[in-house]
Amino acid sequence: MIQSCDTPNPNGSALLGIKDAIEKMLAQIVTVRDHQSLPLIEGLGRVLVEDVISPIDVPPADNSAMDGYALRHQDLKHSNTLLMAGTALAGQPYPNTLLPGQCVRIMTGAVIPDGADAVVMQENTTTNGDTVEFKELVQKGSSIRQAGEDIQRSQIVVEKGTQLKAAHLALIASVGVAQITVTRKLKVALIATGDELTAPGEKLSQGAIYESNRFALLALLADFPVDVIDLGIVKDDKASLLAAFKQADQNCDLVISCGGVSVGEADFVKEVLSQLGSISFWKVAIKPGKPFAFGKLNKAWFCGLPGNPVSSFVTFQQLVTPVLQKLSGQNITSTPHFVAKAACLIRKRPGRADFQRGIFYRDENAQLWVKPNGKQGSGIMSSIANANCYMILDRESDDIQLGESVNIQPF
Ligand code: AMP
Ligand code: MG
Repeated sequence: MIQSCDTPNPNGSALLGIKDAIEKMLAQIVTVRDHQSLPLIEGLGRVLVEDVISPIDVPPADNSAMDGYALRHQDLKHSNTLLMAGTALAGQPYPNTLLPGQCVRIMTGAVIPDGADAVVMQENTTTNGDTVEFKELVQKGSSIRQAGEDIQRSQIVVEKGTQLKAAHLALIASVGVAQITVTRKLKVALIATGDELTAPGEKLSQGAIYESNRFALLALLADFPVDVIDLGIVKDDKASLLAAFKQADQNCDLVISCGGVSVGEADFVKEVLSQLGSISFWKVAIKPGKPFAFGKLNKAWFCGLPGNPVSSFVTFQQLVTPVLQKLSGQNITSTPHFVAKAACLIRKRPGRADFQRGIFYRDENAQLWVKPNGKQGSGIMSSIANANCYMILDRESDDIQLGESVNIQPF
């Protein structure tokens, strides 16, 4: 599902709305064609190319939901005492057919013996040597888990386009499937640009700052089925950028850069991009993050993120995520939104969809409230680190008053 924070811009501004930007990217990008067959155990985070279909019923046989006694429910109408004929354990079924007047000691998960049609929990019985006394009647089927009650044979258990999480792996294993077909991992190059950028751990010279965006972007990329080629920090000169982008283009499906996409004197990314390929757009009506470039190099797709730390973080989550989903064959999804009430005045100017960092909480009446998490500048990374949601403010809205509704997207 695509964000719906755009309203048409009545001023007719050339800035592309975020929804249009996403649609434009998705319309161009083609999912990687190469598939591979993988042992299920290696499937975490990978994207299914085919539905996984269950070859069996789960559970495969009727089995006991309790520790107790399996019996013929009709028998208890004639006598409250039955003869214990044997035992059924999980994995060790009772080998005979249950005869009238008999019961079988049964453990949770054990297959229901032939002839039995109910289980009475042990707490409602007393044993006396070979006989068992039952304190109440039972209904047919009581405490029996039916074969196929979870999954039926030929049923789809996980749909194609799903990125496999822990629960999916267990579900697929539970139907006995050991091999899956997934899209190959994407190759993604990451480039930070800027003469001022210094690696953490090194000495900071006059005018320099520590490079931090790559740390966030690498961590965010870890949620996707990608191998990252980290090209580190590239200087703000055309030749270095050209060389880095050429190298990335030859080896990758997607090149992600940060910095150098605005209109400053040292912002060469756009120029280099137009020299190596074509730009689809390079401005989106989103705040933070207006200078976001999308295009195609010779071979690889390209996303140029703004350098400001909050902007690169937000544009990755909101704009690069659908790109990676489409490329890797994933169904396009977004984190769910909720509606909260503004706990204070929220400043906003019309023109761009705003992703302010907020803190939401629930009051004693279960009402959700949200307030901005401190200063909202695009360089203030603590605004994200200590927040728990985005407050997504529509493109054309202005200040939000106390008590007005706000769309929030929890982290
Ligand atoms: P730019 O988009 O290159 O104009 O950069 C905008 C701002 O973000 C500048 O203040 C840069 O110093 C800063 N910046 C750019 N890249 C990074 C980075 N990788 N890590 C931290 N800050 C950055
Ligand atoms: Mg720069």
